[in-house]
Amino acid sequence: MSVAEGETRQNGTRSGEAGEAFPYCVTKRSRRGTRGGVRRIFLSERSVMLEDSEVERALVVMAHPDDVDFGAAGTVALWNRAGISVTYGIVTDGDAGGFDPAIPRAEIPGIRQREQRAAAAVVGVRDVHFLGYTDGDVNPSQDLRRDISRLIRQVRPQRMLIQSPDRKWEHIPASHPDHMAAGEAAIRAVYPDARNPFAHPTLLLDEGLEDWVVPEVWMMASPQPNHFVDVTDFFEDKMRAIGAHASQLPAPEIVEDKVREWLSAAAAEAGLPEGRLAEAFQVVTIS
Ligand SMILES: [Zn+2]
Repeated sequence: MSVAEGETRQNGTRSGEAGEAFPYCVTKRSRRGTRGGVRRIFLSERSVMLEDSEVERALVVMAHPDDVDFGAAGTVALWNRAGISVTYGIVTDGDAGGFDPAIPRAEIPGIRQREQRAAAAVVGVRDVHFLGYTDGDVNPSQDLRRDISRLIRQVRPQRMLIQSPDRKWEHIPASHPDHMAAGEAAIRAVYPDARNPFAHPTLLLDEGLEDWVVPEVWMMASPQPNHFVDVTDFFEDKMRAIGAHASQLPAPEIVEDKVREWLSAAAAEAGLPEGRLAEAFQVVTIS
């Protein structure tokens, strides 16, 4: 079975009937088909998405505490329910964040780490690493590439979720320079660093971490989303995860409406029915 290029197609049903692949996924500029007798989403002729059932471990790399919750907590909750073990690597402690001058600045990193761990727990994630870089000063440096490569080789994920290195001009706040830098460092770690045993040689020589190939990367806040996840059923979890970041929410009463607005717009872009909520990604495969 296949559909024409460019057609938007909902894959399966929300109820996730038995044997139905990608029950929550909607793709654009891609098509469905079969390969080796298995139903697949083809992002292009050569690029085929993994099914959740083929993903044992996923690694999320984000610049700041709260980024994954605003961008993808619904999807992470869904992955967790699908049995995928998810690990977070947070590049900074968000030490430039907050809004309340009464809180001593020295306390902010600890507060934000606790908030991120609480938010992660809401969506079933217990393995949270903080890489200790300075908020507002993230660069795709060799040090950061090595540290992300270390996590990749430790976790050995089949799928990663990162931030887009490309600026989304129609929504600049989604493209914070730290986000783009963390995304750039992460994709450089995916290719070529983590798979090259001779890159960052101390990882292998001193730490015994062998090379690893990450076959699939999802990017948040991409200017070119090609894949949408219907997270309507996980919206409550997502809002609880976001709510855990109390130090970042000066007006918590308006947050839910705002998030609902973003997710409704993504659902509309995906062609989902009125009332549905979606998170948007650009998915790429790396062979
Ligand atoms: Zn951020």
